[in-house]
Amino acid sequence: MRPPSCVICTRTPQDEEQYSSFKIVRFSIDADEEALERERARDGWVGHPPWLMWFCGEHLAQGEELADLHWREAGERLRTT
Ligand SMILES: [Zn+2]
Repeated sequence: MRPPSCVICTRTPQDEEQYSSFKIVRFSIDADEEALERERARDGWVGHPPWLMWFCGEHLAQGEELADLHWREAGERLRTT
């Protein structure tokens, strides 16, 4: 798991209190990625897949709004906001 860093403002938590305001949003994945995820879970993979993105408290709502989109599309939209 990657340490928290907001995908919009790249802010990272500086103290305990801020840490708790950072949340992970899970975006949609396609069938191939679902298969990959199942395989990784079986192998005990502990990396951070690109469809899990960190958001700070301020940007969490923006991330959640796009959570139904495929992560690639959501990522592109987030970069252009
Ligand atoms: Zn942010």
